[in-house]
Amino acid sequence: MDAISPVLTDAFQLLRDDLYEHLSEAEFLATKVIEWSDEDVDAARILIPDLVLVIRGLLIEHQLTPHGTCCICTLEWPCPVVTRIHALVKDPEREFVALVRRAHADE
Ligand SMILES: [Zn+2]
Repeated sequence: MDAISPVLTDAFQLLRDDLYEHLSEAEFLATKVIEWSDEDVDAARILIPDLVLVIRGLLIEHQLTPHGTCCICTLEWPCPVVTRIHALVKDPEREFVALVRRAHADE
């Protein structure tokens, strides 16, 4: 496979940097405010499902095929994307696990 052109390399880096900057801005909003306003709380309530949608979308794209491989990566399933998502979502040190535990405790 030929290497991509320097122009495409620059374009891909700009795209990647733009996505990283977008994520950093969202992360900054969560940490910048000492006391959240009602608007901040409302934004967080909307942001959580949005982030879950992003994660779910990645998992849907990296589904298991009948051959035991990822339909996108074509690597053995779980592919690195699914493995990474699993590690982050199931990490007991992260809020995802605590949030789910609290939700089940309220049932
Ligand atoms: Zn994959």
